[in-house]
Amino acid sequence: MTVHTLTLIPGDGTGPEIVEATIRAIEATGVQITWDRQEIGVPAIEKFGTPFPQAALDSIKRNKVGLKGPLTTELGKGFRSVNVALRKEFDLYANLRPAKTYPGVRTPMGNIDLVIVRENIEDLYAGIEFDLGTPELAEVRAVIEKAAKTKMREDAAISIKYISEMGSRRIVKFAFEYAVANGRTKVTAVHKANVMKFTDGLFLRIAGEVAKDYPAIEFEDRIVDNMCMQLVQKPELYDVLVLPNLYGDIVSDLVAGLVGGLGVAPGANIGENGVAVFEAIHGSAPKYAGQNKVNPMALMLAGALMLRHIGERAAGDRLEQAIAAVVAIGKDVTYDLKPERDDPTAVGTKEFADAVIKQLAAIHA
Ligand code: NAD
Repeated sequence: MTVHTLTLIPGDGTGPEIVEATIRAIEATGVQITWDRQEIGVPAIEKFGTPFPQAALDSIKRNKVGLKGPLTTELGKGFRSVNVALRKEFDLYANLRPAKTYPGVRTPMGNIDLVIVRENIEDLYAGIEFDLGTPELAEVRAVIEKAAKTKMREDAAISIKYISEMGSRRIVKFAFEYAVANGRTKVTAVHKANVMKFTDGLFLRIAGEVAKDYPAIEFEDRIVDNMCMQLVQKPELYDVLVLPNLYGDIVSDLVAGLVGGLGVAPGANIGENGVAVFEAIHGSAPKYAGQNKVNPMALMLAGALMLRHIGERAAGDRLEQAIAAVVAIGKDVTYDLKPERDDPTAVGTKEFADAVIKQLAAIHA
């Protein structure tokens, strides 16, 4: 039997608790994993004086695949976000966020089964920004005003949106490859090419080109504002959505809301050659740290994605099935999945994991 060595980043706040619950559930699938534990972010600063110890980076390089608990980002010491830095360091260009309704989770909508593929590196989030009062802003403004033959207000700050052919091609290809590998039938490219003709226009043109290589998968496009309305009114018409960074960020949270909120939504950041970091979408919920209270479901679902990614598809399917069963029964679930938030029958993080492990044993039997 293959033994997989994977990087494990417990994170901080409630991270270590949900990570512990998740690895117990993953191991209960029977897949053999050696966890290479590493610290990044706040715990790493405390232990090693840096948010990115070389040992953690080397571990991801070596193992290629990691499971990560949430990391608190408000460090206020010279870098914006360890999560963003991690994506940049490993060129994790694809943010994969499946959004599915599970019976037992209260949702504003009926049956939803969507996959959001968000470009993770480019667009307005590339971090190319010029602040008021800086000489760089004056320089950039002068160049832009000359080239675009237009005037900008003097009190305007500037953020640059860039979208490349390479970046668009690889994210759209990723969406189609995901569709093929996971039995999906349609990819929708989401954009605002009617207004941003050169950046979003390029994204749309490349999407159309890539689509020609996948004749078995239906391809269409939607303007992002219309897409938001349609997702609320008739989400069943959509399957895999591929979006540039900014729209992907917003639309993926919209869709997470439609399936019951961030507490039940998994995510993955994936790069070239199979490099990938799997995580929950929610943050470190620090106010509940150490209380055995929060829901590990989102990270467990990310664990199911990870198992499929490393070639353990059947185990990933079983884990998702077991989580869905626990939630559908609705007894051994955390406070957030109970009809009333102060329901005394709500269980803790550990007991939710116990219930999932019990369901896994029943599926095995
Ligand atoms: P959060 O997601 O941590 O928590 C917001 C609220 O949502 C919590 O107070 C709690 O009521 C609820 N919640 C979150 N996760 C839950 C769970 N698993 N079960 C039950 N309830 C849950 O958002 P925040 O308070 O804005 O962020 C806290 C920190 O996490 C910040 O520093 C933020 O930047 C960071 N963050 C990290 C990631 C990441 O590591 N990928 C993602 C988002 C936010």
